[in-house]
Amino acid sequence: MFFASRIGGGLSVHIFEKNAHPMKKLLLTGGGRCNFTNMRVDSATPEYFYPRGAKNLRKPLKRFGAKSAVEFFESLGVECRMEDNFRMFPASGDSRDIANALLRASKNAGARIYCGAEVEKIELSKDSGKFLTTYLKDSQKAKFESDFVLLSTGGEWSDSLKDSLIRLGHSFEAPLPSLYSLNAEAAESETAPLSGISLKDAEIKLDDPSAKISARAQLLFTHFGFSGPAVLNFTGFGARELAARKYRFPALLNLIPEFDQNKQRESFLSARAKFSKKRVANFPLMGLPQKLWSLFALKSGIPCERTYSNLSKGEERNLCRLLSEFRVNISGKSSHKAELVVCGGIKTAEIDFSTMQSKIVPNLFFAGECIDVDAITGGFNLQAAWTMGEICAQSLASIIKS
Ligand SMILES: Cc1cc2nc3c(=O)[nH]c(=O)nc-3n(C[C@H](O)[C@H](O)[C@H](O)COP(=O)(O)OP(=O)(O)OC[C@H]3O[C@@H](n4cnc5c(N)ncnc54)[C@H](O)[C@@H]3O)c2cc1C
Repeated sequence: MFFASRIGGGLSVHIFEKNAHPMKKLLLTGGGRCNFTNMRVDSATPEYFYPRGAKNLRKPLKRFGAKSAVEFFESLGVECRMEDNFRMFPASGDSRDIANALLRASKNAGARIYCGAEVEKIELSKDSGKFLTTYLKDSQKAKFESDFVLLSTGGEWSDSLKDSLIRLGHSFEAPLPSLYSLNAEAAESETAPLSGISLKDAEIKLDDPSAKISARAQLLFTHFGFSGPAVLNFTGFGARELAARKYRFPALLNLIPEFDQNKQRESFLSARAKFSKKRVANFPLMGLPQKLWSLFALKSGIPCERTYSNLSKGEERNLCRLLSEFRVNISGKSSHKAELVVCGGIKTAEIDFSTMQSKIVPNLFFAGECIDVDAITGGFNLQAAWTMGEICAQSLASIIKS
């Protein structure tokens, strides 16, 4: 839809959508508010946000980045607003504004949309050399002939469509879930009481020095384990490594990453001076929530009645160590439905990212999550989809001109 709205009227565009309504997923994004990009895309290197495809996206993102996306949606009449961590949303907080704007712009550009039409296969006609797209609509098979095909089918492939691309010479990185919550062995007994507590800043890493996978952001304690952006981003960067470990691995949580040893000492020094009579377990430091602090204080061996005036240095160290190196055994991932993005898809080496055209089949284009490109949370996945759609529009426009 984005492509159709950018290509303008120079090309006759026919969109095949298997759902009864277009952009069903887009409406769900950002909890129904559509976090459609992130301004950090324009200033930081893509390696921070794209576990797969960062190198490929470097130049395309310079051609059409976050500012371009905002300007484009504003030109369609969508007022935009920035929230924390540079995330951009429609100011109305309603993803329908983005979807409706795209639908309007595509229709104005003359695109024809066939809803409830599932593409089954793409072939090259031996007679005309053109593409033959077979699709199923109202239980009837039909064929559509075209000079170009752009595939933007998202992360889930039907076997028949996938097989037809393999027959055309393409290959796939195996699909794996990315951006999911984690279940922990200790959750039942140890951290389950903390369910619902969220820390603004925490770090999670794989407790294995040979695999450097970590993420730092907001962390949420759940009934089963851990979630929130820190965990989703960790599973994004670790999608393949964690799958290879069958989602069972030791992890280390740092619940106070802003506080190095000096800052930890300063916090306790100040508490000893100002709040000497307060009980340690009842008086949290370093901005931690009361419930979490008392659980960790007790877990580290500090007795309930211990006050800051008689807290030993050893007790202080134990508590700080537990808060900064909390070891958990991850026992699995959240159920299938909770995954946000698929890692895997058409191999990036088979696509020319300066045009988004297949290096194997001329005039076949790809965009979005169907390629082995994916991002962490924060608006980066949709930005990648817009960027690739824009490159397709630009390259097709120049092919038509020439
Ligand atoms: C719940 C949820 C929330 C998310 N929130 C955000 C967010 O706030 N910000 C962000 O950046 N990313 C978010 N994402 C990720 C983001 O939605 C995707 O990365 C993005 O939608 C990918 O765009 P796409 O066009 O490649 O694929 P999709 O949006 O998946 O679109 C593909 C379309 O192709 C159709 N299709 C598939 N196969 C066929 C076929 N054979 N024939 C015809 N039609 C077909 C599908 O029905 C679908 O409409 C979220 C994902 C989920 C699941």
